[in-house]
Amino acid sequence: MRVGLGFDVHAFIEGRKLVLGGLTIPFQKGLRGHSDGDVLLHAISDAILGAAADGDIGLHFPDTDESIKGIESEKILTHVVGRVRTKGFAIVNMDAVVICEEPRIAPYRDRLRERIASLLSIDMERVSIKGKTSEGLGYLGEGQGIAAYAVCLLAE
Ligand code: MG
Repeated sequence: MRVGLGFDVHAFIEGRKLVLGGLTIPFQKGLRGHSDGDVLLHAISDAILGAAADGDIGLHFPDTDESIKGIESEKILTHVVGRVRTKGFAIVNMDAVVICEEPRIAPYRDRLRERIASLLSIDMERVSIKGKTSEGLGYLGEGQGIAAYAVCLLAE
């Protein structure tokens, strides 16, 4: 068994749709980024790469690469899942925390689990998503963006 940890944070920006965990969530702002800004899928991708000791998404998808500008993060995660499968790993489970004051994550929990399970090609019962606020503290508490942590277990 190999465990991996991922973290990411993206700032809110006006005039962009909010893409989180592969879903478009109704909200007045989106997330800034070279890709679609999907902070949750980035944290999950890094957790999987971390468990395989296979670098991080900055290495495989550098933000200096103009050819991937605006890339859907689902494509990043799908690529990462393919890489670790090719190396002989199976994904056992994934757990994540999304931290923001708004929007509320709980109403989307099961849809997020379903979408992410499908991207990881594992059962939804092996995928956990939890929403937390920052209790008004710091940049997340001021509603400047969204952060996400993820852990993933791989079996060799
Ligand atoms: Mg990111």
